[in-house]
Amino acid sequence: MSFEALGLHVNIIRALTDSGYTKPTSVQEQAIPAAIEGRDLMVSSQTGSGKTAAFMLPALHKLVTAEVVSYDAATSKTPNQERQAARSRGDKPRFVAAKPKMLVLTPTRELALQVTTATDKYSAYSRRIKAVSILGGMPYPKQMQLLSRNPEILVATPGRLIDHMESGKIDFSELQMLVLDEADRMLDMGFIDDIEKIVAATPPTRQTMLFSATLDGVVGNMAKRITTEPLVIQIAGSASKHENIQQRVHFVDDLSHKNRMLDHLLRDTTVDQAVVFTATKRDADTIADRLNIAGFAAAALHGDMHQGARNRTLDALRRGTVRVLVATDVAARGIDVPAITHVFNYDLPKFPEDYVHRIGRTGRAGRKGLAISLVNHAEGMHVKRIERFTKQLIPVDVIEGFEPKKSAAPARSAARKPNGWKPGDARKTGAGAGGGGGYGNNKPGQRSFSKPAGASTGTSAGPRKEGGGYKGNRSNDSGARRTFGDY
Ligand code: ADP
Ligand code: MG
Repeated sequence: MSFEALGLHVNIIRALTDSGYTKPTSVQEQAIPAAIEGRDLMVSSQTGSGKTAAFMLPALHKLVTAEVVSYDAATSKTPNQERQAARSRGDKPRFVAAKPKMLVLTPTRELALQVTTATDKYSAYSRRIKAVSILGGMPYPKQMQLLSRNPEILVATPGRLIDHMESGKIDFSELQMLVLDEADRMLDMGFIDDIEKIVAATPPTRQTMLFSATLDGVVGNMAKRITTEPLVIQIAGSASKHENIQQRVHFVDDLSHKNRMLDHLLRDTTVDQAVVFTATKRDADTIADRLNIAGFAAAALHGDMHQGARNRTLDALRRGTVRVLVATDVAARGIDVPAITHVFNYDLPKFPEDYVHRIGRTGRAGRKGLAISLVNHAEGMHVKRIERFTKQLIPVDVIEGFEPKKSAAPARSAARKPNGWKPGDARKTGAGAGGGGGYGNNKPGQRSFSKPAGASTGTSAGPRKEGGGYKGNRSNDSGARRTFGDY
């Protein structure tokens, strides 16, 4: 199967050839013809399978071939024409709302930028098409300037988009295509109300394409609500298996053991570039500092940093001037740097899904990768939960000279005892001081391994009343909504 056979416009094919794409991936093969026909889509397939092109190529094709209805000069004017008309009437210049034809919603700023970059690449020979990202953290005048160019394609995070909709800067009356990228993640981040509001503001005639790691549960229900007779595409091979990524667990006794082990592992000559994931922003900063002092070209990335700083860090990572990125889960998705050979979980992620996304930062573009989790003896159950989710066992390995004092097996069973571990034990210098960091904010009913300070130790194994809550507890893009409690 070739891109030509999928019926894409020649200018798009040219851009794909320039990008080194020779043939479509399976998800592209299935999604592109249906999307060109105008069908709604519900798609789940694993990370790295080429979902961006699966929705963007058919969308560009439709925009280029003007299958999408253009501005009708008789009934509506483009914002530029409206501005000219206003000027010739002698009206005071005013902002004319942008009228995008396509809207892509993504959970994070990084992903939005990545989608926009990919779009620019795919539309390199389709100069009429403009795509812009509207993101939290971007200066307001810059956003106004981007919107005033009246882009055909808008890529946005939900919170910031709502702000602009409410202030009349965006008009969806001409919207033809709506894409929800990483829909499951957006729901995890508490964006459900925002999404409903945005969907309600778009014309019911729109084409809707939803992409998600899973179509089960809440995401599936939402997907069914917002699509019409969708084509459901589920690419086999399970969303969570990374067959080209080798996984390993190393047990550690304490923080000092963990730090020494990380240094040792990072000095391995097979490490080209690496991402180290931490549970808290503070740990990301502290560890990046420590690694720099130890002679690694390290940098931190987390949700407290300004967008400019985050972009600079990601650029440095892409250029290779940063070799070790120390990041919170803001970086668990979206980063696509082929030279990342290793992912280290300095802390395990709160949700097993995030584990899958984290390790997917390595093994990009079909290469091999290695994902190593440094795990406290009390976190054995947490590893089990990840194994249950991925349906893969993660081998436990021991490095000569770094053997843990306790053996892994009894430690795993100790973790099941309510009093096997006391809050603050293992993380005295890290999140422990912050109280609610670590794994404290689990979903109701999930087991918690590190409880907020002050929680009673006697009930640690049972489901507990949720203090932090699931919704709204994770980082998102809107200043007003941002809690950054975790990232
Ligand atoms: P997903 O959204 O499914 O995680 P992406 O759309 O981010 O995946 O694509 C992952 C990587 O694969 C990107 O680097 C992208 O440029 C590349 N890619 C996508 N489609 C193809 C293709 N048909 N041929 C070669 N590379 C591709
Ligand atoms: Mg994607």
